[in-house]
Amino acid sequence: MPPTLPPKLSAAQFDRALAGWRAVVGDSHVVTSAAGLAAYLDPFAPGERAAFSASAALLPASVDEIRAVLRIANQYRIPLWTVSTGRNFAYGGAAPRLAGSVVLDLQRMNRIIEVNETLAYALVEPGVSYFDLYAHLRDNGYKLWVDPPAAGWGSVVGNTLERGFGYTAYGDHAATQCGMEVVLANGDVLRTGMGGIEIGTAWQLYQPGYGPSFDAMFMQSNYGIVTKLGVWLMPAPPAYLLGEIQFRHEADLETIVDILRPLRLDETIRNHAVIEGGLRRAAGLSARQQWYEGTGAMPESALAAMLAKLDVGRWNLHFALYGTPELIDARYAIVQRAFARVPQARLSAARYAGDAQPTGGGDRNLAGIPAMSAFRMLDWRGGAGAHVDFSPVCPATGRDALRQYTMVKARAAEYGFDYYGGFTAGVRHLHHIFAVIFDRDDANQVELAGELLRSLMSDARAAGYGEYRAHLAYMDFAAAQYSFNDGALLRLSETIKDALDPNGILAPGKQGIWPAAWRDRRGYT
Ligand code: ADP
Repeated sequence: MPPTLPPKLSAAQFDRALAGWRAVVGDSHVVTSAAGLAAYLDPFAPGERAAFSASAALLPASVDEIRAVLRIANQYRIPLWTVSTGRNFAYGGAAPRLAGSVVLDLQRMNRIIEVNETLAYALVEPGVSYFDLYAHLRDNGYKLWVDPPAAGWGSVVGNTLERGFGYTAYGDHAATQCGMEVVLANGDVLRTGMGGIEIGTAWQLYQPGYGPSFDAMFMQSNYGIVTKLGVWLMPAPPAYLLGEIQFRHEADLETIVDILRPLRLDETIRNHAVIEGGLRRAAGLSARQQWYEGTGAMPESALAAMLAKLDVGRWNLHFALYGTPELIDARYAIVQRAFARVPQARLSAARYAGDAQPTGGGDRNLAGIPAMSAFRMLDWRGGAGAHVDFSPVCPATGRDALRQYTMVKARAAEYGFDYYGGFTAGVRHLHHIFAVIFDRDDANQVELAGELLRSLMSDARAAGYGEYRAHLAYMDFAAAQYSFNDGALLRLSETIKDALDPNGILAPGKQGIWPAAWRDRRGYT
């Protein structure tokens, strides 16, 4: 008997549903043991992990199996929580928002259906990770790059649907998505955009199609199960340059952003450049206890000494230039001139042939090579390292960036946490990511991490900022902040939800969107 039951369901009913599912996906692809379900708990939960526990997990192998799974879920009104590879760490991992949901784990559907080098795209299933796609392109000699997010083991589908981002010129994953296949709650299968044409030729080439465009509706939502997704790939450039500029002073952030923005707008810098805080940079090279043994936030003196010793800037800008050597030289000269006006800024750069690999671990992402460098951060604080992220969208102005940074740093220090963060440059916005790093075996730290997150979200709201993504525990809170006209946006989301999924079986609570059947669970974990 599984340790958790789906909500409002008897053990006998659940047994019958499980028997049905076993007949569909096979015994070994229905997980109900406590040991098996442990993989579906959030490893980094900023609170009680069991608050988001699944009652079972199902691993279908095909669209037909998914449709059969849905029939049973509808019959018993059992909520399903879809994941592709379930590595949405820092936002909940594979765990469902509504405890007792059954995880629909699509990792077995892992075919790379098509790669087209001429038109530079791939069509993949949910179980394909960035590592998989990268290896496939490399092994088959395709001159195409992937755009990996910080941790390369996650899936292209999961990351794109969550509107994740990477580091190259194709860093905006939602923007490089083209064409989806989706199974709706009622089992209907549709293809978006040009995929609507039965023997189509342009499914992965033209995003809109004809009439209303629905792709964005299946991102960060609970309206469907995405079973195929097209992704545009960056043609491998003939050469590239990886640059780093180290800045000395905390207040330089304002100038950095104001210099970077025009370079992003006019495409001198085409990649999603990263302005990395000194402490985050240092965490890639060392552990905290080397520099400071105290419990509260690292004091300024220890921070300054650490940055000096490691020869790391207070802010560190990582950028890439791609193209022919002449183009790179011309762009590099512009970048050099632009940043030369920041006192004590130190610029360094390394040039590579298009097929050469960069040496530095953290730089590999900028060259389209997936890595797991993001996990170094877990060792920063010692103990069983975990993190939960605060991710406000920041207008790309120096004033806003400095304001968010100052706000977050001060609030984090109040709760005893270091400012471990940075800004990734879209064009008109920055993704500000601040990670609360805590020891998950230390109950006090876990509680403080959770409280800090809530305070930060309230601060952001008061200043007119909103999160682009939130952990399961804060999804309702984040959604409630988008409150214009008494929450008209969420009302629309829920109207659509009820129309598409009247039994409320797909991911109730995802992104704060609750179907009628489960609306009383809002805000409750
Ligand atoms: P990762 O690629 O990092 O492993 P996940 O598989 O954990 O990402 O997916 C992140 C989130 O995206 C999930 O929690 C879910 O809300 C949504 N999601 C992932 N895959 C699908 C899918 N195939 N269809 C619909 N939603 C999905």
